[in-house]
Amino acid sequence: MASKRDYYEVLGVSKSATDDELKKAYRKLAKKYHPDANPDNKQEAEEKFKEVSEAYENLSDPQKRRMYDQFGHDGPQGFGGGNGGYYSYSSSGFDGFGDFGDLGDIFSSFFGGSGFGGRTTTRQRNSGPKKGRDLKYSMDITFEESFLGVKKDISIYREEDCETCHGNKAKPGTKAEKCTACGGTGTVRQTVSTILGQMQTTKTCTACGGEGEIIKEKCPECKGRGKVRKQVKIKVTIPAGISDNQTVVLRKEGEAGTKGGERGDLYIVVRVKKHSVFTRQNDNIFCEIPITFTQATLGADLKVPMVDGKNETYRIPEGTQTGTKFTIKNKGFKSVNGNWNGDFIFMVTVQTPKKLTSEQREILQQLAKTMNEQPPIKKRGIFG
Ligand SMILES: [Zn+2]
Ligand SMILES: [Zn+2]
Repeated sequence: MASKRDYYEVLGVSKSATDDELKKAYRKLAKKYHPDANPDNKQEAEEKFKEVSEAYENLSDPQKRRMYDQFGHDGPQGFGGGNGGYYSYSSSGFDGFGDFGDLGDIFSSFFGGSGFGGRTTTRQRNSGPKKGRDLKYSMDITFEESFLGVKKDISIYREEDCETCHGNKAKPGTKAEKCTACGGTGTVRQTVSTILGQMQTTKTCTACGGEGEIIKEKCPECKGRGKVRKQVKIKVTIPAGISDNQTVVLRKEGEAGTKGGERGDLYIVVRVKKHSVFTRQNDNIFCEIPITFTQATLGADLKVPMVDGKNETYRIPEGTQTGTKFTIKNKGFKSVNGNWNGDFIFMVTVQTPKKLTSEQREILQQLAKTMNEQPPIKKRGIFG
């Protein structure tokens, strides 16, 4: 083969040309050299068209362009070959040059399928193994369960391989036959009108739906689907410390794959119900604890209720004011991300008694006499 011209030279652009400049240059030259536009010297135009298309194919792909800039035509692993394949076109199709907007689509469909011989890229066939679908399940748990962790059995419906045909889709004793429309490949070549004229591209075979085979007698159990929908029980372990809306992923507990493809995953989205007493902030637990005004005044050993149902004794000092917060260290949520615990924080609210016995009233009146002054009113600015 004669020595190849530099791709940038072919397109008449500089080495620093932008994608836009490349596209413009290509558009201009492709128009100029399209064989249908050159009926008098078709042969030469075809050569040029081919050269221009190859240059654009290589420079418009950032990775190929980098390789080309680095290695030139003699790139590693036969890069830069481009010496055989070519778009096919018919003389009737020279009509769509107005819009290059979908150039990328045309290239991707060609480079994966026919055209540009010698390329090793192959399009993924429909008939190959496919991973099963992922499933999502929403699980409600209590605040206590999120604190302690919980194991639950859930019941879900999912696609399983049919046991009668083992996923083959054919009635036992019969076999799927190779699709004659596509010869078992699942795809057929098709001629389409594009901006570059009539071209061949590959499409999913409609006769077999891309499966490459046709089932004459379908499995009666799954009606030829190869799969059946089944209810299954799954054990789910929710770790201690999980918070509302967090997701637990069970790998390979989703739907069965197709033709040896692996199972999908199961995503358990955990919803934690609100608690009447406790709330959560990060890994800390908050609650309000009402105390009497005598406890607040004299100090007291409080029995503080924990989320797990136990009590912690906590000494509040004399003269505790309403709204004071106390912290019990490391009694909050276990962190699901690491080996630590949040804190338990409680705020005391002093309750003023609403009903008194006559004895209590008398004692308080005596107390009041000893406190015959109103406490001084603090001076404040107008904004408090
Ligand atoms: Zn079946
Ligand atoms: Zn077919």
